[in-house]
Amino acid sequence: MNRIAIASIQQESNTFSPVATRYADFAPVYGEDVLAKHEGKLTETGGFISVLRERKIKPVPVCAAWAITAGRMVKADFARLMRGFRKSLNATGHVDGLLMAMHGAETAEGVDDVEGHVLGIAREVLGPDLPIVLTLDLHANVTRAMAKLVNAIVGYHTYPHVDMFETGRKAAEILLDLRAGAELHTAYRKLPLIVNAENSQTTANGPFATLMQAAQEMEAAGHARAVSLFPVQPWLDIKEMGCAVTVVSEDRAEAEAAAGFLARQFWEARRDFEPELLSVPEALERARAIEGGPVVLSESADSTGSGSPGDSSGLLKHLLKADLDGPAAIFVVDPPAVEQAFAAGVGAKLGFRLGGHYDRVNSKPVAVRGVVRMLSDGRWTPRARGYNPGIPQSMGRACVIESGHLQILVAERSMMTVDPELFRSHGIDPVYCKLVAVKSPNGFRAAYEPIAKAMFLVDTPGVSTARLERLPWKNVSRPIYPLDPALP
Ligand SMILES: [Zn+2]
Repeated sequence: MNRIAIASIQQESNTFSPVATRYADFAPVYGEDVLAKHEGKLTETGGFISVLRERKIKPVPVCAAWAITAGRMVKADFARLMRGFRKSLNATGHVDGLLMAMHGAETAEGVDDVEGHVLGIAREVLGPDLPIVLTLDLHANVTRAMAKLVNAIVGYHTYPHVDMFETGRKAAEILLDLRAGAELHTAYRKLPLIVNAENSQTTANGPFATLMQAAQEMEAAGHARAVSLFPVQPWLDIKEMGCAVTVVSEDRAEAEAAAGFLARQFWEARRDFEPELLSVPEALERARAIEGGPVVLSESADSTGSGSPGDSSGLLKHLLKADLDGPAAIFVVDPPAVEQAFAAGVGAKLGFRLGGHYDRVNSKPVAVRGVVRMLSDGRWTPRARGYNPGIPQSMGRACVIESGHLQILVAERSMMTVDPELFRSHGIDPVYCKLVAVKSPNGFRAAYEPIAKAMFLVDTPGVSTARLERLPWKNVSRPIYPLDPALP
């Protein structure tokens, strides 16, 4: 009977982030606990397991580790995670292949390409001939090492990301075909290109939707097993940085031609990615002109899904004094404020200094006078398709502070804000709000679009700003668009 190893180590890095990533942020599990965490869940690993079970093949679980986006991983913590991965992979005994789920844009102190590093370990343990199929987030920074070390790469096809499960299933089918003797070639193209995340949606209205449609048509027509487009997450100041295209096919010439075609189309579309960002006063003005709610304001420069700390006061300071005809809600990461609320207790009215806790460059704390409405252990479970649905999450301790019309969900640790369930789990239903602030460039659209009256992107300072020219780039290879806009 075939035995296929399954593993996931997933994080998106933002090298401009002031918050380092630690081992505990990954909440890693090893061995059988991987199955308990992912079987039946809509994750890549859930997809791997579902195909293997259907084919009566034994999934051999190695590890499952997922961390919220942040800065480079601390060196010692990274070494510990790598030891855990190697040890668990060594302990699997004989396996017939490896299915590996990674983000594709993870960095650690001294390591710009964590995925390449991990896959190097996998090759050391498993040897050069065993098939390895890698799934990647659409925002992966696909490197030469990744393309060389695996037999096939399969990227998400959706942004907002809602196809993790399908991506996992596709990868597993490809791995089993490789086991059955299929010979696959991966064509790889790298572009001197960064595009912002705010206008990269694959849903209607955007340049990337057109590109992805072409990729999907190639797959559907049987020209390739997996066609993946990677608009790399933009906040990665490393040398080997840029958008990429990969095409996996039995036919080498067809794969190379398709990858070349899509890379050219991608490059030609580069100027169409510019998003419309509004100043906060302008966005509030537009929101007030709309009857009812919720109107969603996206503060993407402080996106917790893009490596920002989630501690900006850029939008918060305006919401505190905004003249609104209904409640508003925002999420802020601020450990001392949570400590203060716990010390005071539910019902206490007191003054806080909120925001600017980690990122002192881009925002300053603001004075908030409010009532502590709720204290919690910060545990909740995402429900929407996307990140970790059905898998309990922890944002450290949390509290809800009410200041006038504004409900502020304050947490000790960063958390994805794309699922309205985050607020609902703390007694705030976005459906009944006039305004909801999210910290996400695009992912929020999946679950918020069906309930939102309107959605606006606001322009505040932060380490995940769409204004890429504002960031202190040092290491990225030049020339690269849009930092070198005249590039032909
Ligand atoms: Zn992504």
